[in-house]
Amino acid sequence: MVKKFIDKMRGVERDVIQAPEDADAPFYAAQAGEVAFFQAAYQQRLPVMLKGPTGCGKTRFLEHMAHKLDRPLVTVSCHEDLTSSDLVGRFLLQGEETVWQDGPLTKAVKEGAICYLDEIVEARTDTTVVIHPLTDHRRQLPLDKKGQIIDAHPDFMLVISYNPGYQTVLKDLKPSTKQRFVAYNFEYPSEEVERGIVGKEVGGMDGELLRKLVAAGRQGRNLKDHGLEEATSTRALVYGGQLMNAGMAPLDACRAALVAPLTDDPELAEALMEIVNAHFGETEAEPAG
Ligand code: ADP
Repeated sequence: MVKKFIDKMRGVERDVIQAPEDADAPFYAAQAGEVAFFQAAYQQRLPVMLKGPTGCGKTRFLEHMAHKLDRPLVTVSCHEDLTSSDLVGRFLLQGEETVWQDGPLTKAVKEGAICYLDEIVEARTDTTVVIHPLTDHRRQLPLDKKGQIIDAHPDFMLVISYNPGYQTVLKDLKPSTKQRFVAYNFEYPSEEVERGIVGKEVGGMDGELLRKLVAAGRQGRNLKDHGLEEATSTRALVYGGQLMNAGMAPLDACRAALVAPLTDDPELAEALMEIVNAHFGETEAEPAG
């Protein structure tokens, strides 16, 4: 059905996408309107920015949507050494010859994949120059080194992620770049949804431990404004549950998943452990009397 729809979209007719529920799609618990947002953006092939803190489900969401829309997904985790050549491609020496090798972005542009540039702000600034002509009506990718310009495949879509908490004055996307995208703000899900996510991801977790783990993690998020750079992510809660399922005592599992990775500051770590203790204390305490 999705294929048929996509074929239709290549023609003149454009419908609202009714992607079927797909049991094989990577599990994703929707928060609010992000699925409808993405379907609309995909229908119009608009470049998308997924905003939100790390570990809140942006990547999983995109994996889910790519599967639903039946598009291949090309993911590039951007880092400070990533250059435009890493994205676009380069000439390589093979024996006596120089051979051009497409980079991941070029492959996605040619094949009509969804290209996900995760944390693009981390990459060198020349990478944003390369994506600009892809984000407007031109939908073109210039291969400067080859002296070539490629028109994007009709199904190609560009998605970037952006963590608003991380940026500094020196390292941020220019407003002129941001404005080329439509954006969705991801938040941490509601407690009930988050319990569902952690329970499903961990698989077969004790209900009471699950409830305490998620409640402790969520309360720990309040320390974000009191010195913690990063809040406890849903991913961290999944790790905590996995450690408990592997037999670790709840307090140790929480220390390893929710506290130690988040801070090196002993006072903050203690404050986080107090929250964990308040939730799990009775689990391990000696029965009174
Ligand atoms: P981000 O890309 O925002 O850093 P991820 O998508 O990698 O975060 O999410 C981290 C992990 O948290 C996932 O691997 C998954 O286990 C879990 N997760 C977070 N949110 C969801 C969600 N809404 N549905 C399913 N799993 C989720």
